[in-house]
Amino acid sequence: MPVLTKVESPRKAKDAIYSETILAGKGFMHKLLPGQVIRIVDLEGNQSVDALFYDAENPDDHYSTVLTIAEQENMYLKTGSTLLAESGKELVTIVADTVGCHDAWFSFCSAQSNTVRYGHDKMDMHNCRDTFLLLMEENQAGYTKRDLPPSVNFFCIVPFTQDGAIEFVDGISAPGSYVELKAKGSIMVLLSNCSQLNNPCNDYNPTPIKVYIWES
Ligand SMILES: [Zn+2]
Repeated sequence: MPVLTKVESPRKAKDAIYSETILAGKGFMHKLLPGQVIRIVDLEGNQSVDALFYDAENPDDHYSTVLTIAEQENMYLKTGSTLLAESGKELVTIVADTVGCHDAWFSFCSAQSNTVRYGHDKMDMHNCRDTFLLLMEENQAGYTKRDLPPSVNFFCIVPFTQDGAIEFVDGISAPGSYVELKAKGSIMVLLSNCSQLNNPCNDYNPTPIKVYIWES
């Protein structure tokens, strides 16, 4: 179990310029301006939120799991972590976090991973890859599945066992837990509120999240 680093935010919900509740299985796509802060709240606890970040001025440049982990020399994300793009550009920095640890590398669920991990009869179940592709199609921002990199999983940890395998474990967030990220430029954010029912990342009970945005 990684060390948990919990940092409260000074920002108040009443000062936010935008807020939205996102039901399980739904997505969110929004462009952050430089310096704006987005908060993702796990309203009921133990909910996994998959997240992608792009340089909004250059959609070819997106979150890089490898660069982010290598630069911070840590497999997990916490307050102070800066998420890097494939070019090395800084996308967002975590400025507050009441969970203390998030997965940086395991990425989103898909029809293919549902099949491989849980059985062929799970192939048609709702998944985050489809949510991301739907967001890209609906928002007509020029993104396609070619632009779909591995994601961050907020409120989720994916530990390694002693022999190097991965484990699916319960999330560690409580009702009302949140993470906040500050945009380091003009950044496109895509969220998928995961509706996965086959592993304990959502406690087999996917629940809503809430998003707030503040000016810099
Ligand atoms: Zn998912």
